[in-house]
Amino acid sequence: MAKDLYKLGWTEAETEATTGTLSYLVLGLRGPIDRSWADILRRDYGIRLREVGGCLIDMDLVERARGHNEYIRRLVSERYGSDVISAAHALAEQEVAVEVVDVGEEIKSLWTPREARADAQGWVDCPHCGRRFSTHSKRHWDGQHHKSCLGKVTLVWGQAAGSGPKGERSQ
Ligand SMILES: [Zn+2]
Repeated sequence: MAKDLYKLGWTEAETEATTGTLSYLVLGLRGPIDRSWADILRRDYGIRLREVGGCLIDMDLVERARGHNEYIRRLVSERYGSDVISAAHALAEQEVAVEVVDVGEEIKSLWTPREARADAQGWVDCPHCGRRFSTHSKRHWDGQHHKSCLGKVTLVWGQAAGSGPKGERSQ
């Protein structure tokens, strides 16, 4: 039975090859790596990454997809001289990893507290985004973060002599 399904998948892929529209089957497209992989395959090789099955994994479907994919891999390897499907996946992983690192650096920077001097009325120039906000405004300040940019700020109070009454500007 399994053998038949494998063959069925293989035959379906053969048919695709004669019509010229190749697809590679995956059991569920998940996350940014798969999306990037799909883009690369379509853009560079005209191969459509096709999701089969969704969240329920059906063993028959797995066998059929295996037959299909082995045919496609073989065909593509002959055409391009290497396994471009795996290569495209590796490239997608790299691309996504680079994006994650960029976003990660940005967040790390926001989480690293920076000192800022508050004036007597509690106004501060945010050391992360540069915008001026009042530490009495609950909308802009939660005691640790400038809420507009989520940057963490360590307040350094200015001239102690001038520290005015608190709550003056609270909203
Ligand atoms: Zn800010």
